[in-house]
Amino acid sequence: MTRPDPAPPAAGTFALHKMSWPEVARARGAVELVLIPIGSTEQHGPNLGLGQDHLIAQAYCERAAERLAPRLLALPAIPWGISDHHMNFPGTMTLRPETFLDLLEDIIGSMRHHGFRRFLIVNGHGGNQALMAAAVQDLGFRLDIDFLGCVGHYTLGDTQSLQDIHGEQPGGHACEMESSHSYYLAPELVREPALARGQIDHAFMAMLRPLRKLELVWPNAMNAHTPSGALGDARRGTRAVGQRLIESSIDELAEILQALQDSPRWHGPPHGQVHAAGPE
Ligand SMILES: [Zn+2]
Repeated sequence: MTRPDPAPPAAGTFALHKMSWPEVARARGAVELVLIPIGSTEQHGPNLGLGQDHLIAQAYCERAAERLAPRLLALPAIPWGISDHHMNFPGTMTLRPETFLDLLEDIIGSMRHHGFRRFLIVNGHGGNQALMAAAVQDLGFRLDIDFLGCVGHYTLGDTQSLQDIHGEQPGGHACEMESSHSYYLAPELVREPALARGQIDHAFMAMLRPLRKLELVWPNAMNAHTPSGALGDARRGTRAVGQRLIESSIDELAEILQALQDSPRWHGPPHGQVHAAGPE
């Protein structure tokens, strides 16, 4: 099927909340996938602002939409996520799972009303992962849309480049990876004079290791792992590594989009409406 050649979008028209309604109407025919950035508002040690996860997810989606224009449209991020495990630190906010699912349903429903039918949740916070698997199962089948998927922007791309800056401490939160992301996409979040190595409780982490191998799931407060709220060593983050991580992650996002578009199902009936064939 040949597609009509869409007019290129006006500069800066990659994020819904920065567009006028006529710009949204013009973009509609060319947009293949609506990106829903999600993250959290939660402590990131002394190193980074509380908005880190949703502001980076937002900036990532806008950058991806700009690079792959006009095929993607970035929505405003949902600024809260599942952050119960960070609630012992001042300022952290958390949603109940049902609130989060309701928000997603209303956001997708609004965009569906305006004619958009394919959605990708772009997650910037590990604590949201389990619920997003449930959201994709539930909303992807129940809503009248053609596609709903979820991906973590931090799991795509050249994550090997982190080895260039890795210290000896385990990372994953308020660490060298996250300060690198911020140096590249939102430098105002980096608290340069306060940057510190995570105060990891190594005895506690050693106790957890065999249980993790058994894939035991249980609630686990972050302050037990690290009284400062940070892992790794955020001082080791660099803008160059952040740029490599983010841009290579967007390269893989482009591959995902291409693979989806190449699949015969992409232009077929909505997946919720596909039934096993009965006997001939
Ligand atoms: Zn984070």
